[in-house]
Amino acid sequence: MASNVEAFLEGDYRKHNDNFGHVLTTDIIPPALSHFSWKISSGRLMLCDIQGVDCTYTDAQIHSNLTSMNFGRGDYGEVGMKKFFENHECNEICKMLKLDQGERFSHPSFFSSGEGLQAAFERIVLRGVDLFVKF
Ligand SMILES: [Zn+2]
Repeated sequence: MASNVEAFLEGDYRKHNDNFGHVLTTDIIPPALSHFSWKISSGRLMLCDIQGVDCTYTDAQIHSNLTSMNFGRGDYGEVGMKKFFENHECNEICKMLKLDQGERFSHPSFFSSGEGLQAAFERIVLRGVDLFVKF
């Protein structure tokens, strides 16, 4: 038997966006993180459903454009990505990251199609989030 446990987050737990494009707070980091994850993955993945305490985020959902697998019932794929962009106005962080320069949702160029899901996730999303945090 295996289990996964997160550290308790003390403070004001807030949900910033959901997996169907709704924006629930005015914080600018969560939507920029969603946009950034989509950009850094060339449109293959998008972090959404971002929630947590301050800038510690947990329980995010991933929308994917991967044909081999998805990230569960909340993975709405391209539909979820389009919904995000319908409600997203690039903010100061998007602009600093140069995410606002004309490229929004379209049919993105994908990375190599033979790459496994786990490898793609680790390379694209985790590295992307790390880059985002270090920015
Ligand atoms: Zn943006």
